[in-house]
Amino acid sequence: MNDSSITRFSDDLILIDLGFQGQHHAIATWLVRGSDGWIAIDCGPTTTNANLVAGINAAGLAMEQISRIVLTHIHLDHGGGAGALMRDYPHLRATIQRDAAQYLIDPARLLRSASMSFGDRMERLWGDVVGIDPMRVDGIEAGDTVHGTRLRAYATPGHTGTHLSFLDPESGVLFAGDAAHARLPMSSLIVPTLAPVELDFDAWHMTARTMQSLTPSALAIPHFGFVPEAADHLAQVEERINVRRGLAEQTVSSPDDLDALIAVYERTTRAEYAAEGGDVDDKVLSLELAMPSYLGGQGMMRWFKVHDWFA
Ligand SMILES: [Zn+2]
Repeated sequence: MNDSSITRFSDDLILIDLGFQGQHHAIATWLVRGSDGWIAIDCGPTTTNANLVAGINAAGLAMEQISRIVLTHIHLDHGGGAGALMRDYPHLRATIQRDAAQYLIDPARLLRSASMSFGDRMERLWGDVVGIDPMRVDGIEAGDTVHGTRLRAYATPGHTGTHLSFLDPESGVLFAGDAAHARLPMSSLIVPTLAPVELDFDAWHMTARTMQSLTPSALAIPHFGFVPEAADHLAQVEERINVRRGLAEQTVSSPDDLDALIAVYERTTRAEYAAEGGDVDDKVLSLELAMPSYLGGQGMMRWFKVHDWFA
């Protein structure tokens, strides 16, 4: 871990690049200073825990100064490492949406579901996923304030049903999680975070409006970074979903078309980055680690099945 993995936005806000699978700009953890220590928003998977700790130390902080892990949602790239981290650091507590807390406490069902998506990639991507003592998990709901901080939780379903985003009312920064999609540093391209198994376009429609109504000063997103053009970005959230959905509707006529859909998403992402310029291979690599085309294809295909598209 070197100093380039740390970006300090203010005295209270630090980004750590977790170096997921050896690549930059794939998964970020946001550190926010609270009243009784720092919190880590979306700690990442177990495979990057060592990088997270190194990043925290590189930021001049000891693990004892981190009081809490706060998760926007349950997916393994955001919270898969929480159990192992909390086993290693017994003072840490976790905050997550109340109905999602059960998957942190006992990840067996979550892991079965994730195996359907990731197959033999599970171990390499996520490593061991360890359950957490329920006494150390604080379930919260929309409207609640995260313990020891001024961050307020907002329900932002669509990517998952229990997704929360967190607004700092003082700075106006919205920790959007995956509700505002993915966008790499130095890129204006917004790549939708479509994924199985709870993808819900109607909910996402409301979520886009919710986020816009908060008029954040900036977005802090896990994939990847700080987006000062928050209003412009949020105005595109639903349209970007519709583009990906339209591609799927043109491509898919039966459940056998998953590979074709994934190929279309891969080609589309590469073409969009190529049109933007810069180091296209590097951007595609970061993006495909953060938000793989195969996951988008699977999410879209499952949505078709659930909504009797093939009937
Ligand atoms: Zn994610």
